Amino acid sequence: MAIGFETESRKLLGRLRDVMASGEAGQERLDKIVGLIASSMQAEVCSIYLFRDAETLELCATEGLQQEAVHQTRMRLGEGLVGRVAKTKRVVNTADAPAARGFRYMPETGEERYSSFCGIPIQRVGSAMGVLVVQSRDAREYTADEVYALEVVAMVLAEMTELGAFFGEGDAFKARHQESVMFRGTVGQEGAAGGNVYLHEPRVVVTNVIADDPEVELDRLRAAVDELRISVDDMLTQTTTVDADQKQVLEAYRMFANSRGWMKRMEADIAQGLSAEAAVEKEQSLARNRMGQADNYLRDRLHDLDDLSNRLLRILTGQGSDTGAEMPQNPVLVARNIGPGELLEYGKTLKGIVLEEGSVGSHAAIVARAWAIPLVIHANGVTTEALNGDPILVDGEQGIVHLRPDEQVQSAFNDKIAMQAAAQARYASLRDVPAVAQCGEVISLHMNAGLMADLPSLESSGAEGVGLFRTELQFLVRSQMPKRAELSALYARVMDASQGKRVAFRTLDIGSDKVLTYMKPNDEPNPAMGWRAIRVGLEKPGVLRMQLQALIRAASGRPLTVMFPFVAQLEEFRSARAEFDKAMERERILGHPLPSKMEIGAMLETPSLAYAPDVFFQEVDFISIGGNDLKQFFFAADRENERVRRRYDTLNVSFLTFLEQLLIRCRTHGTPVSFCGEDAGRPIEAVVFAALGMRSLSMRPASIGPVKHLLRRLDLTELKSVIDAARVRGDQSVRPAVTNWLKSQV
Ligand code: PEP
Ligand code: MG
Repeated sequence: MAIGFETESRKLLGRLRDVMASGEAGQERLDKIVGLIASSMQAEVCSIYLFRDAETLELCATEGLQQEAVHQTRMRLGEGLVGRVAKTKRVVNTADAPAARGFRYMPETGEERYSSFCGIPIQRVGSAMGVLVVQSRDAREYTADEVYALEVVAMVLAEMTELGAFFGEGDAFKARHQESVMFRGTVGQEGAAGGNVYLHEPRVVVTNVIADDPEVELDRLRAAVDELRISVDDMLTQTTTVDADQKQVLEAYRMFANSRGWMKRMEADIAQGLSAEAAVEKEQSLARNRMGQADNYLRDRLHDLDDLSNRLLRILTGQGSDTGAEMPQNPVLVARNIGPGELLEYGKTLKGIVLEEGSVGSHAAIVARAWAIPLVIHANGVTTEALNGDPILVDGEQGIVHLRPDEQVQSAFNDKIAMQAAAQARYASLRDVPAVAQCGEVISLHMNAGLMADLPSLESSGAEGVGLFRTELQFLVRSQMPKRAELSALYARVMDASQGKRVAFRTLDIGSDKVLTYMKPNDEPNPAMGWRAIRVGLEKPGVLRMQLQALIRAASGRPLTVMFPFVAQLEEFRSARAEFDKAMERERILGHPLPSKMEIGAMLETPSLAYAPDVFFQEVDFISIGGNDLKQFFFAADRENERVRRRYDTLNVSFLTFLEQLLIRCRTHGTPVSFCGEDAGRPIEAVVFAALGMRSLSMRPASIGPVKHLLRRLDLTELKSVIDAARVRGDQSVRPAVTNWLKSQV
């Protein structure tokens, strides 16, 4: 790149900074800026278009076009050349604008005189904020150097817009990050909640975009990159527990950290007059844009580059990752994605959760549901739009999120929250009445739990007991393996708190998406079908034995219920039970009091177990159907993959027929059976299961009221005939027929 060009570009940035420091009103600043850019680029026209709302761009300042058009000319995203630049986030550079695809003539601007057009997206970390345009009479394409210089200017404009330099309080025009935005996602957990944004990974704030001395900035950048390289190398050598996946990510980090191309681009940005952090951010923006168009592999690598850029920005600005904003009042967590362990660390303080990715079947979603925290997943773009502390409303009924809502939305939402509270009060009044259907059938309703903090719900929800206690949650919230004494004290407290109600402790179910940071993970191509749950427990029995011992000691003469997760065949159940018997024997020899009564069950989470030999049904004390896993294996549809998960309805007749046959086998052998997957907590699913013969359901505590409410109003025999008729007709799912029938009943 020509040195003269760099100097020119730096001069321009220097002047832009002077304008910013001038203390003038926003519009005057903008007007001056377009003048400066036009003269520096020797262009007859320079215009700045900014987003008025997510769909509309507005001409905010111009040098060269008719001044009357300012704040009058608007176009929709994708409309005309300007709209195309904003939509694609790509430069449009043409010598003959009127002939270019998508050109739209705007008579009020007087732009027909100009032939050449160069439009540059104004964007910040991948989020579009507007478009910078230069135009000239003579038909010429702008050179690569000129386009590059304009990109640097656009970067500075983006930062200025972000910092609110052009529009203040009271301006009709709201800059990005100030206006209301709505996101349409997918329901993860029902419920409505309002609060303030708390970003899981707060964005780094860059305040110095323009720098005087490129040498100083280059030194800063190089020093920061060196620090980054060392930290990545350290991560790779220090961590012996790093698994293959993590290693791959770190290797990719290392590759980028050593990438000459990346470094060179940032050095060139600095030569143009940007500060080191602005250069990092500019490259990050470009990478984010490419992410949208990339395939899965490339997207992962671009994610890596994104994370690496954040690390570099943190080094340069001194803003640590964990020293982000204070948690606001009524925090609503906003994140790209989150694992169950990380979510557990935040605890129940969260009022709502909004994720860009995530899935309904993930364990993070299960934790959110257990805590009745409204959750919306697949809210595309929310992490780039939301700023820490922004007001936010989460509508978990419809999967909608309102960021910075206006008054109307806020007041409609308040009504919704009030209605929700009224419904809760109605359900609470059912707490002490039995779940008895109109036909007289009684269904026992239990709750799922996993933490000490869940136990108070046993009382408030009216659950008969805990049908599933996920013991792995205790392991996930810790940074190291808990000791036997700690576990035993904890289980004893759970039993104390349950005051004699039955608690079915499920032994450790790790693997799949439940990863313990302190246990050497396995490099498996498909962890959900891999070495997990009881498979780990039987092959490496140390932890299982410790857990069984802790449970027996905790019971200390009280009844004890234990179940093993993910049992796929009879032998696995027998081996697991043998471990329990051995643990009992050891405790007996040590003189510890043994449980007064024991129930040892198996979770049925793979279709294979439903076809186990009869003796399995005779030997097992009870069966608990883990519908979440069972369904994913029944339909061969990953519970964490939203795209395939939603194809198959739980009320699909094949699945229901399978469940019914299983219930018949259980009845034949007198084996108690219950259903503890998430579907048990969905009222329609729950009543269908009951109609098929399921007499025990275990669900998140907040579902007990709604399920009981519906059950008590129905005749299950009638519902069964609706289901049977749908099957005879050959319906794919009984849902439409059942929903229709329910409408006539309630
Ligand atoms: C299930 O699979 O339905 C279940 C209850 O276990 P988890 O969701 O913890 O895998
Ligand atoms: Mg499971």
